[in-house]
Amino acid sequence: MYDYDLLVVGSANADLVIGVERRPGAGETVLGSDLVVHPGGKGANQAVAAARLGARTALLARVGDDAHGRLLLDSQRRAGVDTVGVLVGGAPTGVALITVDPSGDNSIVVSPGANALLAPGDVRAAASLFQASRVVSAQLEIPLGTVVEVVRNLADGGRFVLNPSPPRPLPSEVLAVCDPLIVNEHEARVILGDACVGAGPADWARILLAKGPRSVVVTLGAEGALVASDQGVSRIPPVRVTAVDTTGAGDAFTAALAYRLAGGASLADAAAYAARVGAVAVTRGGAQDSYPSAAEVEAL
Ligand code: ADP
Repeated sequence: MYDYDLLVVGSANADLVIGVERRPGAGETVLGSDLVVHPGGKGANQAVAAARLGARTALLARVGDDAHGRLLLDSQRRAGVDTVGVLVGGAPTGVALITVDPSGDNSIVVSPGANALLAPGDVRAAASLFQASRVVSAQLEIPLGTVVEVVRNLADGGRFVLNPSPPRPLPSEVLAVCDPLIVNEHEARVILGDACVGAGPADWARILLAKGPRSVVVTLGAEGALVASDQGVSRIPPVRVTAVDTTGAGDAFTAALAYRLAGGASLADAAAYAARVGAVAVTRGGAQDSYPSAAEVEAL
């Protein structure tokens, strides 16, 4: 029996957002709207999304001993995430400086801050969390060596889910345990490089699977998703909604999928549920603010 459905190992950032008429060029200063600060980072987003659905969730992350770190801890606790694994101090909390223009295009500068200090030793020190977790999920906004240590610390029978974002080459040791590797179209293109040319998403899924993961999910935004395993490739139809803000949809999808896998669902069933969660999330503004409860997913 596991104490947690899901342990998320990943980043926690404060997103500092300013609306601007026009994003500034080199050497230019523009005036913008009032500053809005949101809790974000892919790890923190996934943990909140899972907990809001009812998953017993823990987060292993690092934040600074500062106001942004407290904002992140508060949002995790409000959602019901166990923050026993959130380490504090060593560097300022990670920050994303975001300017958004009226067309919705943005420019983003990320300062990883404390996320860059989440070290392999922190993973080893959290061994009891790993032993207590049915599924562990990670992303790549923390050092790659830390993700390698994560896969070495999975519980016997534990399952690993990876969203390789931002995309970069992965060691075969990590690829081999991904079940699934979850990529959006952008991540698939970066990882596959030339192999993408002239191929469609179903081919991408097959080529990614051939690189070693036990299973692959390709998310396709409003087009739904594809799942690939040794059973073949199948399509998860989209849930038709009117999207207002797709920020953080992929994080909600990954969290929901990991939660359902922890409950014993098949990959296809877990992905179908995740598509419903992603669909609700895009009907609302923000990332964490947009994540639904299980009842809201039912009501869709
Ligand atoms: P990311 O946020 O990483 O770019 P996607 O845009 O592929 O990822 O979205 C993740 C999932 O969220 C999709 O597979 C889909 O299930 C759901 N989703 C995203 N955008 C929409 C949309 N416009 N309508 C319905 N579902 C959506």
